[in-house]
Amino acid sequence: MSSDTAESTPLETFADLGIAADIIEGLTDLGYQKPLEVQIAAIRLILEGRHVSLRSKTGSGKTAAFGIPLIQKLTSTIQKPAVLVLAPTRELAGQIAAELTGIGHHRKIEVVAVYGGASISDQINKIKAGVQIVVGTPGRLLDLVRRRVLKPDTFKAVVLDEADEMLSMGFYEDVTSLMDGCTNCEQVVILSASLDEDTKSLVDRYTSDVVRIDLSADVLSVDGIHNIYYTIGDELPRHHYLLHVMAVEKPSSAIVFVNTRKDASLVATLMAREGLQTEMISGELPQKERERVMAAIRSGELRPGRARDRYQRFVARDQLQPA
Ligand code: AMP
Repeated sequence: MSSDTAESTPLETFADLGIAADIIEGLTDLGYQKPLEVQIAAIRLILEGRHVSLRSKTGSGKTAAFGIPLIQKLTSTIQKPAVLVLAPTRELAGQIAAELTGIGHHRKIEVVAVYGGASISDQINKIKAGVQIVVGTPGRLLDLVRRRVLKPDTFKAVVLDEADEMLSMGFYEDVTSLMDGCTNCEQVVILSASLDEDTKSLVDRYTSDVVRIDLSADVLSVDGIHNIYYTIGDELPRHHYLLHVMAVEKPSSAIVFVNTRKDASLVATLMAREGLQTEMISGELPQKERERVMAAIRSGELRPGRARDRYQRFVARDQLQPA
């Protein structure tokens, strides 16, 4: 870890980090017993009001690392949105909002997630009813600013999550336009897996005397996750090898990431045709459908199911080995 002020001493509990009892109650409900490394590194600095640029591994607990201290500074009596969190995708915005809601539950902190593809009037009603935290994707946030439902000058703290991802998706202008409007912002937290030129320029533009925390250590995986890669031949159309991998690994459930919507549709059709219970999710799916698919994944409803025997035979002819 490198940081210009953070000397991390081994702190065992959230209370050691100065977290209040009602927030700890929310953390206990979520099953968080002890702070993770990224939380130990960031919580006190954010509580102190420092600007923070945080580089850490995906899945390391970074949402709570900024969520816990920012929520601790809020009360349910604050009338106007005080914390803005920008995220590159609808799913991430939804996940962040759910986690922040859990953390702030006993303090009665209200969180709204705003993103395209979902009813804007529901989002407007929620904001008007009174929220302290707004989590959203840049396009929908700008839309709400243009409609004067959101006034960026009410935000005291702004978080950019997956900043590098957001910029690589072409959101630079939207992000800077939103941030430029946050004229009363006192604290900026920027989270990013990489610190490329665009992200650095964002850090320079919106923070001064920033504390940089780097926990990435050039490791791309999270402890406890077993990574395997397969080399494939060219005897079969490329996507067919996936069926072999499924037969070798026998996952109880699986998520397949592909590059394009066309590939998503192709792979989903191929797997479904082979008898695997498969759902496709991509940007062109209506939001309700995306949420239905995500819920099916979470509940464990999507299982490979009945095609197994067939696969075993398929694989016996042409088994792939982990490389
Ligand atoms: P994130 O990096 O924010 O995506 O978090 C990764 C996962 O870690 C999420 O599923 C969180 O619910 C979980 N998590 C975050 N903080 C803690 C904690 N202190 N103890 C246990 N799990 C945690």
